[in-house]
Amino acid sequence: MADPIHCPTCGAPLVVRNRFVTVVTCEFCGGVSLYDGGRLDPTGRSVEVVQVPSPLYLDATGQIGGRDFRVLGRLVYEYDGGYWTEWFVEVEGAGRAWLVEDEGAFSIVQEQSDVTAPPFEEARPAGSLRIGGLDVFVDEVGEATVVGAEGQLGGVILPGEVIQYVDGVAGEREVSVEYGERGVEVYVGRPVPRDALVVDEETYG
Ligand SMILES: [Zn+2]
Repeated sequence: MADPIHCPTCGAPLVVRNRFVTVVTCEFCGGVSLYDGGRLDPTGRSVEVVQVPSPLYLDATGQIGGRDFRVLGRLVYEYDGGYWTEWFVEVEGAGRAWLVEDEGAFSIVQEQSDVTAPPFEEARPAGSLRIGGLDVFVDEVGEATVVGAEGQLGGVILPGEVIQYVDGVAGEREVSVEYGERGVEVYVGRPVPRDALVVDEETYG
């Protein structure tokens, strides 16, 4: 068991859940801190919890494609068409990933840390972009606000940020790029058939 570290905002003891966590929200005061592997650095931001109906929840466990996973945290994005949720998960044998949930449909995506995306201005709906060696057909370009967050997260996007995004497909793969205030994230993944996602029932106490 890792030694607890303390929330720089309220002093509550917190335990960082895995080595991929870069953003920690405090379950007591809602303070958002950056985590560098050793200490927590307060951002001055705090989380709002937005309840979007979902079979998933914080700390949920289950199987995806037969592999065990656990939910570490989530970000809720609001855009013109409504909301989508990105669940930060650790997956047995695959490390970290995000389960993206949009109107009941799920995709599993992984951040491509070594891939550079073209500038947002080059993306047009029905256009194409070359991203990380893939020819990506762009189906959506837009702006979204991170209106909710919970738990512990990877990546550079923080609660409260306004981001620009590009969603597209390359063959069987789904490619998305999020242009945030602190950096650009490129994700590549694939849709998850609903019957390939099994969520354990929530237990209380
Ligand atoms: Zn706190």
